[in-house]
Amino acid sequence: MLLLTCPVCGVAADETELAPGGEAHLTRFGPGSDDATFESYLFHRKNPKGVHFERWRHAHGCGKWFHAARDTVTLEVFGTYSAQVTEPPRDILDRIAAKHPGFEWEGGA
Ligand SMILES: [Zn+2]
Repeated sequence: MLLLTCPVCGVAADETELAPGGEAHLTRFGPGSDDATFESYLFHRKNPKGVHFERWRHAHGCGKWFHAARDTVTLEVFGTYSAQVTEPPRDILDRIAAKHPGFEWEGGA
């Protein structure tokens, strides 16, 4: 079972209370960008086996969006944090690096 603590209201919610929102930290490109960039923004997503940064909504709770860093293989959650930031907090990146030596934040897509 996936348990995520909503950073907005502090409730530890299982997946039945949450709605997935896909990959976090996407750089948005509009119709003024070139076709390849716009296509990549619309359709291309990371699907890693391992550390992933995701958007979740506490749909059956406070209703707010937040970000989560977790391992897609082990379901270990490294932390949840505000959806209002452009990169994960340092403490979460340090927690990931402790479990996955050599891990480096690559930035948004
Ligand atoms: Zn909440």
